[in-house]
Amino acid sequence: MKRILIVGNWKMNLDTHEASILIKKLNDNIQIHRDIEVVVAPSMLTIQPLSREIDRRKFVLAAQNAYFKDQGAYTGEVSFNMLRGLVDYCIVGHSERRIYLHETFEDVRDKVTAAIRNNIYPILCIGETHQEKVEGESKRVIHDQLTTALSNLTAADVEKVVVVYEPVWAISTFSGTPAKPSDIKPMVDLIRYNIKELYGEKASENVRVLYGGSVDDQNARAYLEIDGVDGLLPGSASLNYVKFSKIVDSAYSLIHQKRKE
Ligand code: PEP
Repeated sequence: MKRILIVGNWKMNLDTHEASILIKKLNDNIQIHRDIEVVVAPSMLTIQPLSREIDRRKFVLAAQNAYFKDQGAYTGEVSFNMLRGLVDYCIVGHSERRIYLHETFEDVRDKVTAAIRNNIYPILCIGETHQEKVEGESKRVIHDQLTTALSNLTAADVEKVVVVYEPVWAISTFSGTPAKPSDIKPMVDLIRYNIKELYGEKASENVRVLYGGSVDDQNARAYLEIDGVDGLLPGSASLNYVKFSKIVDSAYSLIHQKRKE
């Protein structure tokens, strides 16, 4: 059984002091479980102090972004190379970056490539907008975002990528219409199908596929029960220690139930 991955995307929230308070509360409320990996993605500024504070048996860190070049005259950027040793994961291709920062499919591809080159697991977010959904373009968008992002990788590299199906229309800060499990399952299957076609059965089975978009403590369990979903990426709910801890609890209870069956 794959470990369930729960990734809290803190976005541009929490200064160093606030981040430290949240991680302490999470530490008090979340148990170590060998079958669950809990990842938090703080702002770039707080990664270094948090990396000294966290209990690494309980939490690992993700960056929310990094630049695709390893070093050089790129004012304001931080490279994957600089994040080595501080984070295990980096979110890449989040819809807020695609929409507000105009990141292209090719930018996302280069960041995924740079993450793999630097031994950081990319958490690749893909998903269609509301407009694309109503135009019947969802499958094409997912295919194009996914295949472009992975196009520099070998099958062995692809197994290290975490793909998040995160429909833009379901993200709380865009419109926040929570997706139904019946919306998610076909897209998760499509992601694995596309990977199988290009990189083979092993890559498609081993790649971790998460769901993100208005995940909270009330709906987490239903999303985790979807066949093929290996974890969740909550945004807003990850800023609330009670909600985030309960999301992790949902993963515990599911694992315990599966063990009994
Ligand atoms: C996100 O933006 O990654 C996200 C999933 O946000 P929320 O959970 O708030 O919808």
